[in-house]
Amino acid sequence: MSNPFDLTGKVAIVTGANTGIGQAIALALAAAGADVACVGRTPAEDTAAQIRALGRRAAIVAADLSTIEPVGRVVDETLAALGGLDILVNNAGIIRRADAVDFTEADWDAVVDTNLKSVFFLCQAAGRHMIAQGAGRIINIASMLTFQGGIRVPSYTASKSGIGGLTKLLANEWAGKGVTVNAIAPGYIATNNTAALQADETRNRAILDRIPAGRWGDPADLGGAAVFLASRAADYVQGHILAVDGGWLAR
Ligand code: NDP
Repeated sequence: MSNPFDLTGKVAIVTGANTGIGQAIALALAAAGADVACVGRTPAEDTAAQIRALGRRAAIVAADLSTIEPVGRVVDETLAALGGLDILVNNAGIIRRADAVDFTEADWDAVVDTNLKSVFFLCQAAGRHMIAQGAGRIINIASMLTFQGGIRVPSYTASKSGIGGLTKLLANEWAGKGVTVNAIAPGYIATNNTAALQADETRNRAILDRIPAGRWGDPADLGGAAVFLASRAADYVQGHILAVDGGWLAR
C-alpha cells in the first residue's frame, strides 16, 4: 500500500511562509513531497532555499495580503511557476492588542482585512481552480480564539472565530466538488507573534501552568497536522477544526 501521507507531485501555496508557523508548515509539506509557493510581504528567500535543499521546487510570491488586490496574482504566479495548485494554506495573520473600549477602527480593519477578508478571497480564487480540476485541499489557520473569547484582542477574536464559520461554510459548499476545507487551531506557539508573552516572566509562567503539556508549542508541531489535512489520508475529513494546543482546550 502506498504512503497515504505522500504529497509528491502536489503544489501548495502557503501564506506567511517567511517565519513561524507558516515556514514550518511549508517545510513539512515539502518534506512530504510537495512543491511550495511561499507567500509573504517580504520575499521568503530563506524558506524557499530550505525547500529546495529538500529536493522540492519552491516559488517566491511577494504579496501584501492586508488587501485583496494581490489575491488573483498569488494563484496565477503559483500556476505559472509550479504548474498546478492542489493545496492552499491560509496562515498569514496579525494581531492588535487593546481594551475593547479603546479599540480603534484602524486596528479593527487591519486585522479583519488580513486575517479574514483576504483569507476568504484567496479561498475563492484557489477554490475556483480546485473545483474546475475536481480536487483540492484548503487549510485555514485558526486559533484557540476560534473557540474562546480571549481578552484585549477584539478584532483578532472576531477574525479567528470568523475563520471557523467560513471553513465550515466552504466545506459545505465544496465537499461535493472534490475540495476539502479544514482548519488548524494552534495553541500557544513560540513565534515572533508571541515573543512579548514569552519574555514576560509572570505571563509566561501563567501560560505554562495552564497548558497540560507544560510547554509552548514549537512551530514544527503544526507540520504533521497540515500534512495530514493536505493528504489522501484526510479524504473524508471535511469542515473540521483541528486543535494543536498541548491540551489547552481540553482543560
Ligand atoms: P509570525 O508573526 O511569525 O508569522 C506571521 C506571518 O504572516 C509572517 O510570515 C508574515 O510575513 C505574514 N504576514 C503578516 N501580515 C501579512 C500580510 N499583510 N501579507 C502577507 N503576509 C503577511 O506569526 P505566527 O507564525 O505565530 O502566526 C501564523 C498564524 O498562526 C497566524 O494566522 C496567527 O494568527 C496564527 N496563530 C498563532 C499562534 C501562536 O501562538 N503563535 C496561536 C494561534 C494562531 P511577512 O512579515 O514577511 O510579511
